[in-house]
Amino acid sequence: MFTWEQTTGGVHRALTGREGGVSRGAWLGLNLGLHVEDDPDAVRENRSRLAAAVGAPVVYMDQCHGAEVAVVDTVPEVAPSADALVTTSAELAVAVLVADCVPVLLASPDGVVAAVHAGRPGLVAGVVDAALDAMRDLGASAVDAVVGPSVCGRCYEVPAAMRDDVAGVAPLAATVSWTGTTAVDVAAGVVARLTARDVPVTWVPGCTRERDDLYSYRRDRTTGRFAGVVRRVAS
Ligand SMILES: [Zn+2]
Repeated sequence: MFTWEQTTGGVHRALTGREGGVSRGAWLGLNLGLHVEDDPDAVRENRSRLAAAVGAPVVYMDQCHGAEVAVVDTVPEVAPSADALVTTSAELAVAVLVADCVPVLLASPDGVVAAVHAGRPGLVAGVVDAALDAMRDLGASAVDAVVGPSVCGRCYEVPAAMRDDVAGVAPLAATVSWTGTTAVDVAAGVVARLTARDVPVTWVPGCTRERDDLYSYRRDRTTGRFAGVVRRVAS
């Protein structure tokens, strides 16, 4: 089920892929997105498998490509509209869904964890800093980050004006595509924002568009979503 996982310092962080799910067709595998026209029964089964694998209910967001942060301490009835989910509870896991956007899993030894959806607009809106601020407000004195696979800086062609927007918050994110046109490396921008806040980063390699075991919107358009998930556990 997991393409990468780590348990350290009382925190379990994991990234899913396509393997281990029941979705069919364009969503083949462990699609966890309910908003991508897959069979909802299949998605519910996939979500229940993920909850079993992490050993706790998983809270998802209604992701909006902004910088809203939701703090949760129980499983909400409706997924909060946000792009960062923060919790201090060990009774639940928080998740971010992606198919090219950057999944960021934050944790603090003070018992605060967060899942962040950092796409291009979210990075520009400041979602990384907003999540770190919310964690600090809950008592996180030190935070470290895992940055999962996303579309790479060669595979994410954008118009020049869009690249300039991103470079405005993270100059390192300005790249060129495989064909030499303007492009962005959103993950490089995310890592730059984290580094600017003295947050150590573990960057899991891989480009979603180039890896068949992960969902990629830019490659396939109609496709599923994989997850980054983080949970406090007994150390
Ligand atoms: Zn790539």
